[in-house]
Amino acid sequence: MKLLKLTNLINLGEDVLFPSCYCPVCNNESLDGNICNSCKQYYIKPKYCKICGEHLEDNCDVCVECKDVNRIFTQNSSVFNYNKQTSGAILKFKNNGAKYLAKKFAKILYDKYVTLNWDVDLVCPVPSHITSIKKRGYNHAAEIAKEFCSLTGKVYSDILLKNKQTPQQKDLGREARLKNLVDTFEIIDKWLVKNRTILVIDDVFTTGSTLSACAKVLKNAGAKNIYGLTLAKSPIKI
Ligand SMILES: [Zn+2]
Ligand SMILES: [Zn+2]
Repeated sequence: MKLLKLTNLINLGEDVLFPSCYCPVCNNESLDGNICNSCKQYYIKPKYCKICGEHLEDNCDVCVECKDVNRIFTQNSSVFNYNKQTSGAILKFKNNGAKYLAKKFAKILYDKYVTLNWDVDLVCPVPSHITSIKKRGYNHAAEIAKEFCSLTGKVYSDILLKNKQTPQQKDLGREARLKNLVDTFEIIDKWLVKNRTILVIDDVFTTGSTLSACAKVLKNAGAKNIYGLTLAKSPIKI
């Protein structure tokens, strides 16, 4: 516990010591403070599954997973492959107090978003349970989403609520992930979403069960289309 607090303190200090000219993934110098040339190798390369954003090796339009699953959301796009380097940066932001990375991650998502031709009305983060927010000091997805809205001028809203604490999705297999989120999210302002196209922001996309669970409550409240934008796409754990 003491070690974690010390790590958080060091990471918070980095914001002051190394404000803007360091790559958010490897922490090496980068002229504009964005992804350095070396870390661009972690970008998911085209061609992408037109539904979940997974890299495709063949000539199909959708991946095997999306062929089998009836997706509730319209489309997801992720920037990075989830590997040791990108997950390290995400976990540093998410669990070790490096809140300053929200701005840099939002810029990464913004650079992806402008290539997508999505016309969204509203941006919301995947919600965290209050227990996790208290532990971390913030909702990591909300911090990115707010910074993303500063860049895009889109409307930010905390329209979703996570009403129970659940085991982390990353530690579960496919079936358990789906069950884990049943009746977990609820909507706060139904009137805000009716006939709207909504962009849901999160850190990692794996099976899409989190985005699907959010999309389900948003659609039930009358939302038109749901898009997802995440930093990394993780391989599916069977
Ligand atoms: Zn780098
Ligand atoms: Zn797919």
